[in-house]
Amino acid sequence: MDKGLLLVLSGPSGTGKGTVCEELCQQQNSLCNSISVTSRFPRKGEKDGVHYHFLPEAQFEKLIEEGALLEWARVYGNYYGTPLKQVEEKRAQGLDVILEIDTQGAKQIRERVKEAILIFLLPPSLKELWNRIKGRGTEKPEVMKERFLAAHGELKEISNYNYVVFNNNVSEAVDKIKAIITAEKCRVARNKEKLAKLSEERWLI
Ligand code: ADP
Ligand code: 5GP
Repeated sequence: MDKGLLLVLSGPSGTGKGTVCEELCQQQNSLCNSISVTSRFPRKGEKDGVHYHFLPEAQFEKLIEEGALLEWARVYGNYYGTPLKQVEEKRAQGLDVILEIDTQGAKQIRERVKEAILIFLLPPSLKELWNRIKGRGTEKPEVMKERFLAAHGELKEISNYNYVVFNNNVSEAVDKIKAIITAEKCRVARNKEKLAKLSEERWLI
């Protein structure tokens, strides 16, 4: 069985990563998202083990020491990281895994997993980004501002990504990411085994 793809989805807070990822995973049975660990407090409505695995800082630091994280970063003052085992097990089952992570984490993935596919999700405009952050209403005003202002630095990282997708409309953004997945699965380098089998059959002709 072919190992599943590893996709990374980054973009400024409020761009719509969570929304797009959820819809994508609902539509694509072979795709699942990884549940990150974080030291931040749960927001209203967030469930442990569903949205994140919520851990105290000391336990997070233990995971770093044990090498249990594929990547990790401090974002807006809290730790966030991707559990290595969970991702490897899913990919070994042939499932494609999508990581919704920040640009620091994406950089680590690029160095560690050469075949990873990095996608940057963008809002149609910065004005719309601000409207989405405000409209979501999950943060206090000063935190909303901090996240909005961080977008400037994050946009500078785009050249390290393989694809850019504008999230003007959720279903269009989802369709574009599905098209990226389809194209990536057609790469010659990802079909070496099937091509070798085909060449073994040459004697039939
Ligand atoms: P992120 O995960 O990137 O921080 P969210 O998925 O939480 O962003 O989306 C931020 C807000 O923007 C949410 O209220 C969501 O419903 C809204 N949103 C997401 N995508 C769109 C879109 N294409 N058009 C309008 N609103 C959107
Ligand atoms: P939030 O607090 O809004 O859930 O997430 C804040 C930021 O942390 C977002 O940019 C999100 O993509 C990023 N993030 C979430 N999980 C991870 C992770 O496992 N690793 C890294 N590096 N960033 C993450």
